[in-house]
Amino acid sequence: MDRHADAVARTLSALQGAQRPQKALRVAVVGAGWAGLSAAVTGVELGHDITVFDTAASPGGRARVVERPDGRVDNGQHILIGAYQETLDLLSTVGVDLGETLMRQPLALVNAQGMGLKLKQHRHLGDVLWALLRHPSWSIRARASLWFHSVRWLRQGFQCSPHTTVQGLCRHLSPQVYADLIEPLCVAALNTPADAASASIFLRVLRDSVFGLPGSCDLLIPRVHLSALLPDPATSWLTSRGAQLLYGTRVHSIENVQDGQTTGPAWRVNGHPFDSVILACSAPEAARLTTSIAPQWAQQTGLIEFEAIATAWVQCEGLRLASPMVMLRSGPAQFAFDHGQLGGPQGQLTLVASAAKAHDALSSQELGAQMVAQASRELLSDTDPPPRLRCVLRDRRATWVASAGLQRPPTQVTSGLYAAGDYVDGPYPSTLEAAVRSGRAAARAVHRNDTR
Ligand SMILES: Cc1cc2nc3c(=O)[nH]c(=O)nc-3n(C[C@H](O)[C@H](O)[C@H](O)COP(=O)(O)OP(=O)(O)OC[C@H]3O[C@@H](n4cnc5c(N)ncnc54)[C@H](O)[C@@H]3O)c2cc1C
Repeated sequence: MDRHADAVARTLSALQGAQRPQKALRVAVVGAGWAGLSAAVTGVELGHDITVFDTAASPGGRARVVERPDGRVDNGQHILIGAYQETLDLLSTVGVDLGETLMRQPLALVNAQGMGLKLKQHRHLGDVLWALLRHPSWSIRARASLWFHSVRWLRQGFQCSPHTTVQGLCRHLSPQVYADLIEPLCVAALNTPADAASASIFLRVLRDSVFGLPGSCDLLIPRVHLSALLPDPATSWLTSRGAQLLYGTRVHSIENVQDGQTTGPAWRVNGHPFDSVILACSAPEAARLTTSIAPQWAQQTGLIEFEAIATAWVQCEGLRLASPMVMLRSGPAQFAFDHGQLGGPQGQLTLVASAAKAHDALSSQELGAQMVAQASRELLSDTDPPPRLRCVLRDRRATWVASAGLQRPPTQVTSGLYAAGDYVDGPYPSTLEAAVRSGRAAARAVHRNDTR
């Protein structure tokens, strides 16, 4: 028994040794969003000297808390799902208690009355199909149409032409199922209207969530501010392991200084020497920094388009929604979240308007007023006190547009230079999981390619 345990320990230590580089590389990570933090944590785990730069004074990028005169609010309401395996793994690595920080519930796409698609649990595909069968407002024909389509997608391995849109994919689906399920799911997952959205990305999300492992379509809604979810714990984890975090420091320039003969550092970032660089900043910034180093990569990255999300924080005294997240019938918002059920004050809601580019012409005040009117109309009765608008946060570059046929740039920009970010080529749309995966992939690529 002891000999067996020794052998296991030796194998483990040999494997760990194989992961450790003979010489630690000096790696610059440009950007401390979720992609940059993921790259930095993985880089440290692989034994490298990591320096992280971020323009902002605090980490987290698009998924962080913002300070306002009336208190702290998240930059935007975020949800995760059980399929976000790499994100959950990263949170655990930096010491986050998943049970404390995330409210986990089986998938529920319900309206303000609590009616709609509701799973009791997600152990296997049968649970999903049973919930679809029991949908309270779909005709038998509508349910049969969804069954037929689901079986077809399964048989095709959830693959289709990269040029097909979600609308095209579902053109023979019951209009009722399309309006009640596909359109809201598409806009929630891809933040792109179904008539433009990539069907292959949508099918990949369906495959990994609804048709994935047990619990993969569970909703995980943060009970804490976004900064407390990853950016702050990751910052403490990195600092305690010797990484340098230069927040409040914009990277103006990167230069390739390798002459092909000496073995010194290959890169200068704001004039400081590094062996490798991971660009984990926004796509436009990555394109700017690489214009003269890798023009083709920069051009492809510069073509990425963005879609907006607006989040209204609204106070509705004494209100408790039928579920922590409910779907709305009209517009501008598609979903409302009840923070009273998520550890926040009773009656505090967020209303989320995805694919919000359509509202660009409205001022924040006008958009906020429309969302308050929507809350009154859809969530409150005539006798309830009127809702109060606290603020509207708009991010005009919330996510990249997941349009059919889009070609995303690869992780490797050129030798010794890598990119991480939710826009980098990968299976997922513009999400935390895409960001985290890309960060890990970039750090592993540095380790694999650049360790000498
Ligand atoms: C309102 C809103 C709602 C969302 N909802 C969800 C959701 O429900 N679920 C989900 O999974 N995803 C959601 N997303 C998307 C998710 O937030 C992003 O996919 C993710 O945060 C992207 O992370 P990133 O690290 O790739 O990029 P970013 O977060 O943009 O990070 C880039 C970082 O680089 C820094 N930077 C830029 N230029 C430089 C420079 N020159 N030098 C140094 N630093 C620089 C920036 O300051 C920033 O911190 C939402 C996004 C928004 C805005």
